[in-house]
Formats: sequence, structure tokens, C-alpha cells
Amino acid sequence: VAKSQGGNRMVAFEQEMREQALLRSSLEADLRLAIERAELFNVYQPVVGLLADGRMDPGAGVEALVRWRHPIRGLVGPVDFIGIAESTGMINAIGSQVLATACRDFVAWQRALGDRAPRLLAVNLSRAQLTQPGLCDQVAAILAASGMPAAQLQLEITESLAAQGADIQQQLLDLKQLGVKLALDDFGTGYSSLSSLHLLPVDTVKIDRSFVSLAASSAHHKVLIEATVLVARSLGMTTVAEGIETVEQANVAHAQGCDKGQGYLYSRPLESAVLLEWLNQRQEVLNPA
Ligand code: C2E
Ligand code: MG
Ligand code: MG
Ligand code: MG
Repeated sequence: VAKSQGGNRMVAFEQEMREQALLRSSLEADLRLAIERAELFNVYQPVVGLLADGRMDPGAGVEALVRWRHPIRGLVGPVDFIGIAESTGMINAIGSQVLATACRDFVAWQRALGDRAPRLLAVNLSRAQLTQPGLCDQVAAILAASGMPAAQLQLEITESLAAQGADIQQQLLDLKQLGVKLALDDFGTGYSSLSSLHLLPVDTVKIDRSFVSLAASSAHHKVLIEATVLVARSLGMTTVAEGIETVEQANVAHAQGCDKGQGYLYSRPLESAVLLEWLNQRQEVLNPA
């Protein structure tokens, strides 16, 4: 009995693997078409300022996050297709489309909202983009074409990426030469540490959601956030607490000195038109007439 059960489990496992591989190759084929068919679009999640008096500043910034409206599967998130895009080289086309769209949208918000517009636009870069020699030229061309001010663009890289070799370091320095800002995303999850933060040419450290979500109940994680803020601040870097879902988590982030916060408590990622409404409403809360 045991043997036949083991055999059944093996069959089930192989079938599962086959289904995974099929799903992947079907998504891969669909992703090629998705770019042509304009099925990819950006959503934007507000990044709010955590002000000293306890209020929040809704205009601090937004982060662009890519989405795929698949004709059959419905909405597909980046976790399910960025990996495929990276391993097939499609990430360069997708990444430049995300950046160009985000810059155009940002400039449009500035026109529509004036001083109510977000002040910073964050866009994620993946590993394959950072190792591509033409990246800086591509970013410069997109800035020029959209009229996006370089100083208001923040490119986000993950910790593991930043710890890589000299070629990536040089690419990061070249990007900084353009006048754009750099942020270290998901800090705390990778291999770099507080002691190597000073080696990275980044302006901002984004403290990973896993720390923020535990900080309200775990003294250990609270101290880790506090230490990160102290080191980042001593290096002239600003800090963002990611994934704030509750008032308690927001209070901890504020008490530990994080400059900004991002998470479902403030807003989920929104389509551009909805973001405009959100900004208008929140600004009224911040500055009652
Ligand atoms: P990330 O850059 O760390 O972005 C934050 C992720 O956390 C987003 O997931 C966002 O929707 C989610 N999030 C924000 N607040 C909360 C919260 O309060 N609770 C929870 N549970 N989640 C929250 P999303 O949009 O699924 O993106 C996942 C990751 O995919 C991003 O992590 C980023 O690494 C990558 N990604 C997204 N868009 C792009 C892109 O255009 N290019 C590249 N290369 N990567 C992207
Ligand atoms: Mg990010
Ligand atoms: Mg992040
Ligand atoms: Mg993350």
C-alpha cells in the first residue's frame, strides 16, 4: 500500500511539475503578445510623509507598479511575470515602457494638480536592466522625451542587486550622474547589512514589509527598524517603511523615525485617474480650508 501511495504521490508531483512548466511557457508566449497588445499598465501607490506632528503628507511621492490585464486569466501581478520577463530578455522592453508611462503620467499630474502633485516618482529596476549597458542612455532619453525632472525620479533596486560587482556599482554611479535618485528596496531581506550601507550610492532605504509587519508586536524588529533609521540618517539617507497595514504599524514607523510610509493603510496601488482623486481628497484633509 505504502509503495503504491508513494507511486501516486510521484505521479501527482510529476503532473504538478508538468502543469507548472506548461503554465510558464503559455504565460511566456502570452507576454510577448501582451507588449504589442498594450495589456500591461501601471498602477501607483502613494508614499506618504510621516510628519513630526503625527499628520501624514499625501504628496510625498508614488511608486509605479506594473500590472498585466490578461485576456483570459484576468489581472496578473508582477510576481507572476517579472521573473519570466527577466529570463527571456523581455524585461528591457517592459521596463522602459513602465518608466516612460510613469514619467508621462507624473508630468501630467504636475500639470493637473500643481503643488498638490506628488513630488517623487519611484520606479523599480530589475537585475537584467541594471546589467544592460544602454540603461543610462535609455533613462536619459525617456526623461528628455517626457519632460520629467531627473531629480524627482527615484529608481529602486533590491538589496541583493546592490551588493553585486563593480559593473553594477558603476552603472549606479552613472545613473546618479543623470541626477536621478536611488533607493534600496526591501532592505533587511537580502545579504547586505547596516555595516555596508555606506558603500552604496543610494539616497533612500526602504525597510521591508516583513520588519514593519512584525514591529508592532516584536521588540526585536522594532529595534532593527530603529537601528536602520539611525544608520541611514547618519549617512544622509531617508527611510521609508514598506507595507504599513495598521495604525499600530504606522505609529511604530513614526516613533522609530521613518521619514515616509507606504502601505494599504494609506492606499492600495491605484490607477492614474483614481490616484488624482485620492490626492485631491487627502490634501483637503491635510490642509482644511
Ligand atoms: P516592491 O517594489 O517592494 O513593491 C511593493 C509591493 O508591496 C507591491 O506589490 C505592493 O502592491 C505591495 N504592498 C504595498 N503595500 C502593501 C501592504 O500594506 N501590504 C501588503 N501585503 N503588500 C503591500 P506588487 O505590485 O505585487 O509588486 C511586487 C514586486 O514586483 C515589487 O515589490 C517589485 O519588486 C516588483 N515590481 C513591480 N512592478 C515592477 C516593475 O515595473 N519593474 C520591475 N522590475 N519590478 C516590478
Ligand atoms: Mg519598489
Ligand atoms: Mg519594496
Ligand atoms: Mg517588496
